[in-house]
Amino acid sequence: MFVAESKAASVSVKQGELNGIISKLAHHGYEGMIHSMIRAACSIAGVDASQLDRESVLVGRRYIYDESGRLLMGDVFFHGDSFFILDETKGKLRATEVRHCAATSALDAFCQAVTTASKVVIDGRRLRGMSLDWIEEKPDFGAFDRMYGPPRKVDPLESIPPDYTEEEADKYVALIDDDNRNLLITLAQARGKALSVDADSEARGKGVPQLLSSGIIRREYLVKCRKDQHLIVSIDDRDQLDAGVGDIFHCATCGRLFREEIVEQIYVLSEFGRRLLSGSRWMMIWITELLRRFGLVAEQIRWSGSAGDDEIDIMTDLQGTKVFFELKDRDFDLGDAYPFAFRVARYGGDWGIIVTTGRVAAEVKSFLKESPREFGNVRFETIEGGKSIPSQLPDVLMKISEFNIRRLVYPITEYTGFNLAPYVNAWMKRVGEAYKGKHPSLIGRTA
Ligand SMILES: [Zn+2]
Repeated sequence: MFVAESKAASVSVKQGELNGIISKLAHHGYEGMIHSMIRAACSIAGVDASQLDRESVLVGRRYIYDESGRLLMGDVFFHGDSFFILDETKGKLRATEVRHCAATSALDAFCQAVTTASKVVIDGRRLRGMSLDWIEEKPDFGAFDRMYGPPRKVDPLESIPPDYTEEEADKYVALIDDDNRNLLITLAQARGKALSVDADSEARGKGVPQLLSSGIIRREYLVKCRKDQHLIVSIDDRDQLDAGVGDIFHCATCGRLFREEIVEQIYVLSEFGRRLLSGSRWMMIWITELLRRFGLVAEQIRWSGSAGDDEIDIMTDLQGTKVFFELKDRDFDLGDAYPFAFRVARYGGDWGIIVTTGRVAAEVKSFLKESPREFGNVRFETIEGGKSIPSQLPDVLMKISEFNIRRLVYPITEYTGFNLAPYVNAWMKRVGEAYKGKHPSLIGRTA
């Protein structure tokens, strides 16, 4: 996944000074792409680059305005495994780094180079009144949207932080296996009635040791009368049957000790298992754990976004992009797709991701691909088939982050009239391949 990070220093510059800083940065190994092109063009034309009004070469279709007026023309620097954007906004110099989430940040080194270049370029007396402390700020992903008018009106959602125990985070994995889950569903439906797993198919039985050791199911012993087969009692503890109550109490019908009667071993769903299974809670935990493994921090993830009867299972904020997840422990059909698509649009989601352990119906895919007009610019992705979810999810997150990065650089394209997208796309392809399968280490965990 690609991430962006920004820092700003309260350095107010004019375009000429910014040009000077960008030129000086080349001495530190940061070659400004746009300014280098202008220099090369001047050289070919036999023109002195310093005499050229650089802004006059801009053919931006639309200038970007913010509260303080027009942005100055900054530049883009591809360097190592990152690229940087240096621009000026609201009287501040702003440095933004784009990198893979598993790459080490190189933003401070870039800021340091800008500081050094600024000290050379900006007049000392002017510089004394400014601060060259680089303070973290949110990257401006919103500039792209602001170019397309006022923000969308969306209905608010109540939500909660991910809420599960350490034990649940350790044990939910036993439910990823379809056979295990089917067994649990059967047990849940059998509620109180005897169900012998041993007598069942081998495929079903293979997960029993894992489910037992995870505390998701437990053993129970049914004591039945040898004379008329009626159920006398069920006992949790084998030892109690052999040496405790089983050795003390007699059957009222035939007079045998409990331990001498027919003893059937069965499996029952524990309260812990029932909780994991209910409302596909295990899936909420699974997807949350995966999102965190693939680079999201706990604060970016919310559960159960709700308004009235509407609910969104998991919501994340990927650098200003709202991603809504719909989880289904079964096939996903058109009847599921309509309400979900509607909810994503209504509550301001930018992407709707359907995650299912079953299949997503073909008509759902074509419905979402056509992206009906009433759903605005919402994009949809589907992830289907239980076990392959962990391999598909990073690809989807990658796709969303690439979209975000394109959004981040798009204003420069609009401003300069120079399309950066092909370069940024090619860079993301190269770096994405180099870092394929690499994710930031999991730090901390929601209690
Ligand atoms: Zn009996």
